[in-house]
Amino acid sequence: MAKVAIIGGGASGLTASIYASKNHNVTIFERNNVCGKKITITGNGKCNYWNEDQDFEHYHSQTPSILSSFLKSSIMNETQDFFRELGIVPKIKNGYYYPNSMQATSIRNTLEKKAMENGVHIIKDMLIEKIVKKENKFILNPEKEHLQFDKIILACGSMAAPKTGSDGIGYQLAASFGHTIIKPNPTLVQLVCDAPFLKSWSGVRAEVSISLIINNTEMRREKGEIQLTDYGVSGICIFNLSRDVKKSLEENKRIFLKIDFFPLFQKYSLDDLLKWFDERSEVLKGYSLDEMLEGILPYKLALVLIKEAKLTREMKWTRLSLEEKRNFIKTLRNFSLEIIDTKSFDHAQACTGGVSLKEIDMENMQSKLVENLYLIGELVDVDGDCGGYNLGFAWMSGIKCGKNI
Ligand SMILES: Cc1cc2nc3c(=O)[nH]c(=O)nc-3n(C[C@H](O)[C@H](O)[C@H](O)COP(=O)(O)OP(=O)(O)OC[C@H]3O[C@@H](n4cnc5c(N)ncnc54)[C@H](O)[C@@H]3O)c2cc1C
Repeated sequence: MAKVAIIGGGASGLTASIYASKNHNVTIFERNNVCGKKITITGNGKCNYWNEDQDFEHYHSQTPSILSSFLKSSIMNETQDFFRELGIVPKIKNGYYYPNSMQATSIRNTLEKKAMENGVHIIKDMLIEKIVKKENKFILNPEKEHLQFDKIILACGSMAAPKTGSDGIGYQLAASFGHTIIKPNPTLVQLVCDAPFLKSWSGVRAEVSISLIINNTEMRREKGEIQLTDYGVSGICIFNLSRDVKKSLEENKRIFLKIDFFPLFQKYSLDDLLKWFDERSEVLKGYSLDEMLEGILPYKLALVLIKEAKLTREMKWTRLSLEEKRNFIKTLRNFSLEIIDTKSFDHAQACTGGVSLKEIDMENMQSKLVENLYLIGELVDVDGDCGGYNLGFAWMSGIKCGKNI
């Protein structure tokens, strides 16, 4: 039996411990006084732990070919078996998996209980600051506790939501063994704008169809609800668009969101909508522009859009020139919002970047540079869309590593 130390008692570390403890003597070191602090805040406290749609397009890495060889149906089936065997009964909403209790703590508690049942030692309140390898042994915190192990699993997470314990120290530990760290950036994060109307639309939620445009090229399109705020925009659609924003801004690229605030009429051409407004103004005779939009758009948003179309709310549709009408419809359908930043790691649900997959054997997550060193979870260069994919990779990499260590 080898002595295995897992650094980090989060999603990936707990999972790896449950498998590795079948053949090895396993100890988890967790810096917090509880395990899985981040798990408990996932999915707004409900933990969206998996998704039925496991298409490769929902996972991202700088080396997609390596990642695609990892994401096979066998590991996905095994992950679902893992949760079944743990006794987690899923509540599935539009393909998104939650525990039936709708409490993220159920997932955290179940994982920790299973690890302890398997004889895993969990040492809390202990930060591992340094690891050195001497001959065939790893020494943890050599200047302090001087703990010796045969194998190490780094499961320290990324830099997202550092208050949960993942503050980037895992990257330092991996780098100290010569690993390449692809620069982490916040993802699944709110986007920041600088526009005069932000205060006016703050608090509004709107159903939209939205595209991310980087240097005039459409990169990705999303549909759903967004939240308009006094710093910019938020919501699941925005999170899914946020992935390349920071990196592109650092490369001095210009980023815009093109927002269609009228997705219900997506199939309508400009002329169709002109006709639709003409007909509406006939029914709503004498109504001003803001009154005509009542019941179609949130009022605060309608006022912003009217102003951005260089019109005023008292104006009547019938009195507008054709050009003004066209411009008004374009503002509703093709609203352009420049993005100047993302919110920080504090607000991000995940990170892009991390330890390069080129340096990891994806069959067991072992380092290709240092024998008996393993790297799993969000620490490595994999991130996923909103919808259970980040936890998905944490479980999958934890299982692969724990089983094959
Ligand atoms: C607000 C929020 C909501 C989210 N919602 C979802 C969701 O619904 N679905 C989804 O799929 N994903 C979600 N995520 C992302 C998901 O939580 C992470 O991708 C996942 O937890 C990563 O697991 P991990 O094991 O790699 O890292 P973590 O869960 O971050 O665990 C790392 C652990 O290691 C400990 N640690 C770090 N360094 C050391 C050290 N040197 N010594 C000792 N201990 C250390 C930390 O304290 C931490 O407990 C969300 C994230 C956030 C912030």
